[in-house]
Amino acid sequence: MSDEVFKGNFTQQEPIPEEAIARAVEVMRSGRLHRYNTLPGEKGEVAELEEEFAAYTGAKYALAVASGGYALGCALRALEVKPGEPVLTNAFTLAPVPGAIASVGARPVFVGVTEGLVIDLDDLPVKIAESGAKVLMLSHMRGHIVDMDALMYICNGAGVAVIEDCAHTMGAHWDGVPSGRHGVIGCYSTQTYKHINSGEGGFLITDDDEIAARAIMLSGSYMLYGKHTAGPAPEVYEAIKYQTPNVSGRMDHLRAAILRVQLRNLDSQVENWNARYRVVEEGLRDTPGLTLTLRSQQEHYVGSSFQFLLMDWLDEKIEALVARCLARGVELKWFGAPEPVAFTSRYESWRYAKPQSLPDSDRVLRAIMDVRLPLTFSLEDCAILSRIIREEILRAG
Ligand SMILES: *Cc1c(COP(=O)(O)O)cnc(C)c1O
Repeated sequence: MSDEVFKGNFTQQEPIPEEAIARAVEVMRSGRLHRYNTLPGEKGEVAELEEEFAAYTGAKYALAVASGGYALGCALRALEVKPGEPVLTNAFTLAPVPGAIASVGARPVFVGVTEGLVIDLDDLPVKIAESGAKVLMLSHMRGHIVDMDALMYICNGAGVAVIEDCAHTMGAHWDGVPSGRHGVIGCYSTQTYKHINSGEGGFLITDDDEIAARAIMLSGSYMLYGKHTAGPAPEVYEAIKYQTPNVSGRMDHLRAAILRVQLRNLDSQVENWNARYRVVEEGLRDTPGLTLTLRSQQEHYVGSSFQFLLMDWLDEKIEALVARCLARGVELKWFGAPEPVAFTSRYESWRYAKPQSLPDSDRVLRAIMDVRLPLTFSLEDCAILSRIIREEILRAG
């Protein structure tokens, strides 16, 4: 056993590409940062980005917004979810997801999680029947994609509309279909820790004319919806424009300018993440006490973070492991910690939602350990950090 120490920084992303910086400087020099501030004949960076994102995902319409959380809230509003209405979501997700549901006055209803870290397709029909919910906000949490054909079969059969939270699956696919393209709406984040980086930002995509028109009005288009080249035809707005409130949350040209360059590189970045993911997976394979998550053949994921389970470990033993890894420079996040810490939290911590009991999920949630894999880590870094985790788990016995 060595006492090798890891030197990488788990929150350090790569720099913004020079080409993107140059474009951002041009936008700043122009002074025209607002998305509708364009010269005659000019589409502007945001509309260009939306067209490019629609083409990338194969969606008919795309809207660029201020954050991933904004996209989720906007999606619920565009589906006209009413206050008090139940909305299903994953018990294993991040706070902005139930937060978006609460932001429209709706009621989060949690569906269980499996050891594969995806939504429990046995629990889903039960929760649909119990709650009478007509909307599922499906979180592809930490990039784990459930069998989307089975999920859509259940939801279509029950008349449940699916909003996909693709914060961790931009660039991923299920059986060749881009993540975000199964449900009626797909939402994405371009926050620094996701797959393309504008600090804050997000997208909403859909093929539905009226949902697209409502989302564009909601985002704060001030009747300038004609400037949305990745939106529906002007007549679609006629039916909804007096009924749809303005809840401003647009993206600006500066962020769009740096995202356009990154979007072009996304597929090669996905390969870079997955190479790192595979090194960690190999490094942790066959470690006694540690359970790796099995991934389906149909799942083309983006390995921007790595999860493993420590099933039925005592809290104190997990805490001690986290501390020992940290002392050797490896930041393990424990999603199961009793108190919400940084981005990790359990569904019981979202106390604005009605308390629910999900004992099988609790056993999984308590076991989830998470490691970020920023692209500033080399493959060798990934080998070192997985060696440290493995050694410390073996030492914990
Ligand atoms: C980051 C994240 C979001 C929200 O994105 P923001 O851009 O930070 O608002 C939503 N869902 C999940 C699972 C996330 O990780």
